[in-house]
This record gives sequence, structure tokens and C-alpha cells, in this order.
Amino acid sequence: MAKPDHTQNTSPDDESKEKSLDFIRTIIAKDNESGKHGGKVATRFPPEPNGYLHIGHAKSICLNFGIAGEHEKGTCNLRFDDTNPTKEDVEYVDSIMEDVRWMGFGWNELHYASDYFEKLYEFAVELIKAGKAYVCDLSPEEIRAYRGTLKEPGKNSPYRDRTPEENLDLFQRMRAGEFEDGSRVLRAKIDMAAPNLIMRDPTLYRIRRAHHHRTGDKWLIYPMYDFTHCLSDSMEGITHSICTLEFENNRALYDWVLDNVNAPCHPQQIEFARLNLSHTVLSKRKLIQLVEKGLVNGWSDPRMPTISGLRRRGYPPEALRNFCDRIGVAKRDSMVDMALLEFCVREHLNEVAPRVMGVLNPLKVVITNYPEGQSEELDCPLHPTDPSQGNRMLPFSGELYIEREDFMEDPPKKFFRLSPGKEVRLRYAYFITCQEVIKDENGEIVELRCTYDPATKGGDAPDGRKVKATLHWVSAPHACTSEVRLYEHLFTEENPNDVEEGKDFTDYINPDSLKVLKDCKVEPSLANAGPGYQCQFERMGYFCVDSVDPDTGMVTFNRTVTLRDQWAKIQKSQQPQPKKNNKQKKKK
Ligand code: ATP
Ligand code: MG
Repeated sequence: MAKPDHTQNTSPDDESKEKSLDFIRTIIAKDNESGKHGGKVATRFPPEPNGYLHIGHAKSICLNFGIAGEHEKGTCNLRFDDTNPTKEDVEYVDSIMEDVRWMGFGWNELHYASDYFEKLYEFAVELIKAGKAYVCDLSPEEIRAYRGTLKEPGKNSPYRDRTPEENLDLFQRMRAGEFEDGSRVLRAKIDMAAPNLIMRDPTLYRIRRAHHHRTGDKWLIYPMYDFTHCLSDSMEGITHSICTLEFENNRALYDWVLDNVNAPCHPQQIEFARLNLSHTVLSKRKLIQLVEKGLVNGWSDPRMPTISGLRRRGYPPEALRNFCDRIGVAKRDSMVDMALLEFCVREHLNEVAPRVMGVLNPLKVVITNYPEGQSEELDCPLHPTDPSQGNRMLPFSGELYIEREDFMEDPPKKFFRLSPGKEVRLRYAYFITCQEVIKDENGEIVELRCTYDPATKGGDAPDGRKVKATLHWVSAPHACTSEVRLYEHLFTEENPNDVEEGKDFTDYINPDSLKVLKDCKVEPSLANAGPGYQCQFERMGYFCVDSVDPDTGMVTFNRTVTLRDQWAKIQKSQQPQPKKNNKQKKKK
């Protein structure tokens, strides 16, 4: 697989530029100009309900629903491609609908391929009667052996020349349950020497005694994807059937089926490159393994690239849509860096998330000259640039918590935060100076004794003296104790799909992908925050409420994303370096 391709993405500041049409939108615009579909644009999003949707599906959702939304007569259906009963489940159906809605889209019509089973059967009969499909008794292994290779043509099945009457009789009996699973299939009669292997008499129907989550035990034969998909598209009047590149070879069969039955219309299949994202996997087959082996806590684990996992992590739908917009659609496979997704999340939350204070690793600070037992309330804005978010009253007292990493007893030269004798600003409050370090019997620092300057209320010194650091803090007697979960990439490797011999993708799981902090201290305004509430803990990142303990009321937070912009760094490293022989210019 390709390395992350950072160049194909527009840079964050390209936004104002006019968006040019991607190749799919260009095709559609041309079709509209020529009146090919009478000005109609009908797309569909066709997930198989065999797992939860992931960020790759979000790309397809944004594309299909997005295109429909851009046209006056545009429609987009949601269709469950449920032709494989053994792997599918209503739990997945429900989650998919929830995720599409959460992404901000609504479908025009809701369909299930299984609703078309009767009609699909009739189309198969039509092919049989026309001598274009036959019942084949070869075993799956024999069919494979007869297929040939890329270099060698295949061999005709000995059952290929059955008469339409015989085929019809056998197909009806397949449906009636007269034959064992796997003993016969219905195949299209195309060309066993076709250069495209998919066209070598592909299977259209197989016998499978499996309970279907919608049709129950009604059907004993199930249509294959290639037969179902094109006909479902046609019956729904789809104009542009957008799918991912791995279906490029299947397009010939898509067209063959529609050309050889009396189909209501012939949609155009268009393929685009699927999304690959660094440090994760985007395949339901792999994601289901993570869930089933208990390597994550279910499909909605905040480390999962599933839409429900990202939602729980605090990724807003606006950010996912922006991300999909930025990566665009191409005809070439590439890998997108996770840092771009995180950039989009940060960009949106920066606009909307209130700023509050939370201390992840608390260190107690006692203000020795603050009147004992007293406290005061500071009126602080919730957002630096959006006054409409209002203010909250923040209590300050003589006992505080600061971040443990904001203090060093023996700091290096460039450490500007708190250390013995050093003065710093407490955000929105006062300047404090560290006077004394208290340690326990093991030598661990357990408390700092500081003094504050009452004249610096609000965070500025009237005498104009400066401090080099501003720390976040919470008042100890007012603080709420919270659990905070910090996340890192789920995989240590950039591309966990690219496994070394003898290894499995699960061998690359990052052991530090989840860190749970049980004794964090957050400001009291967060006491009533409910699940889904999003905020920035100043200096520590964006967080969202995961859950609230019904007994204790304790709030658990997920860190959505840190404040570090790795994407900017990547962008910078991609820019051309200035030439080196310009010393003279510099001297001027
Ligand atoms: P997976 O490989 O994860 O199982 P899939 O292609 O089998 O994915 P479907 O449920 O069939 O999953 O996908 C529904 C739609 O989403 C299809 O049109 C498919 O092409 C598209 N899709 C799936 N994965 C991606 C991806 N990574 N990027 C873009 N589109 C995707
Ligand atoms: Mg699929």
C-alpha cells in the first residue's frame, strides 16, 4: 500500500479557493447538460449490514448524499445490501441508520435488497428462458478449476448446454429445496475465455439454508452481489452507481446483466478510490476481529475508526464531513494521515467548544497568604472569541490543584512554569510564587506552598511585571473528581495492513492506546455535564463526557484530541525549502 500522500489534500488555508469539480461530479454535470437522465440525479448508499460503519463509509456517505443534495432533482437512497444471511444482523442495520442520520443525512427511500428477492428471481428466470443462464452441478472446487487463469482460458462446464426448459425446472427445484446446499448454482452463460475472469460464467444464485434477518426461512437460494446490485440500482431508478475501485472489474458484469434482461433503466457505475487512514484499519472483516477477540471494548470503543467510535470519542459530524470534503475523491489509492482528520476535529471544536479547566494529574497548592476558609468567584468567559457562549463563575480559594507537570523542583533553563521562587500566572486569577515544596516520606512531592499577589487579580500586575507562564488550575474544595480516558493511535504502525511475514495485524496494536486517569480534578461548572457534552480543558485538549455514574454522579471524560497540531507540521515538511545561496540578500 502507498505511503500517506499528504500532497493530494488541500491545505487547511486553501478553503477559500473555489472548489473544482471532482471527476464524479464532472461526469454528472456533463450528463445533466446532455439531458442523459432528464436532469435527474439519483444515488444510493448500499452498505452490507455485516458490521458497523467506519470512516471509509463516511466518505461514501458524504459523496452519495452530498451529490444528491447538490442537485435540485437529486435523491439518495439507503439500501441494505443484505444478500448474505449468515453474516448479517439487525443490530448492524440499526447502527447504520443511526450513523447515517448522525452524519447529517437523510435518505429519500429506504430499501433492502432482500425486498427484491422475488423480482430478482423473475429476472433470473428471464435470463434462463433466453438461454443466458444455466444451472451448473459442478462443485465449488470444480468451478474454480474450470475457470482458468489470467493466462489461460477457462473450460466450459459440462452442464452449460442444458436447455432452457431443463434449467428452468432445475432452478425452480433449487428454490423449492430439493437440492443440498452447494450442490448446484445458477450461472450466467457469458464466455469462459473472457479476459476478465469475472465474466467467465459467474455464479448468480447459490443454495443456502440460512435464516435471513428479514425474510426468515422463506428463501433457500440467495442471489449473488453482482446480480443483485445492478438490478436493485435499476429498479430504484439510480442514475449514477458510485462504488469503490475494487469493483472496477465487476462493472462489465453489472452492464451485462442490465443489458440482458428487461431492466427498467441502466445506471452508470463509477468507481473511486477507497479511503485508507494511517494507524488504523478500515475493513469490517478486521474490525470485527478486534471486537470478537476483545482487543477493544466493542464496535463503539473510542479508539475504533467506526462512526460510532468516533462519535463516542467526541468527533463532531461537521468535522467528519469537512474531512471528507478535504480528502476529495480520486481514482488512485492512497493513504491519508490521521493527523488531517484530527486537524478537522480541532478546527471545528475550536469554534464551538467552551473553554474550561480540568487538571489531569493534580498537585496540591496551598496559598499561604490567602484568608483561611475563604473563597471568591471569578467571572470568566466560556469562549475566547464567541461572547454568545457567556460566562461562568469560577471559584478560587486558598487550596488549589495544578497540573503536576507544570512544576519542576530543579528545572532546566527553558522551563518557565512553576519552580521554587518562580512566579507564574493562574489563568483568570492571580500571580503566585512558589515558596516551599512539601514531600512525603518517599521523597515524592505532595504539595506546594505558594503566596499570591492580591494586586494581580484577573491575571495582570498593576506594576507591569511580566510572568512567562499561565497555568490552569481548579479550586480544591470546589473541584469535581472525574475519570479521564486518554487515547493514542490504535496501531503503532502507520499501515497495520502491511504485515511482516508470520505476523498478524493485531500484533501491531498499540499497548498505550488507552490510558485511564482516575483522579482528575475539574471545575465545578462541569458537575452537571451530560453525555456528549464537549469542551476544551485549557492547555490539555478537547474532551467530551462519555458517561455519568448514576449512583455517584461522577463524570467520565474522553479526550477527543490534543491541542498539538501534527498536521501543520506535516504540511510544513512538505513545503519546498528556501534556496541556500541567498546569504547576500539576508545581510542587507
Ligand atoms: P469493508 O471492506 O469495510 O467490509 P465494504 O466495501 O465491504 O467495506 P459495504 O458495506 O459493502 O462495505 O460498503 C458500503 C459502501 O461504502 C460501498 O459503496 C463501499 O464501496 C463504500 N466503502 C466501504 N469502505 C470504504 C472506504 N474505505 N472508503 C470509501 N468508501 C468505502
Ligand atoms: Mg461490501
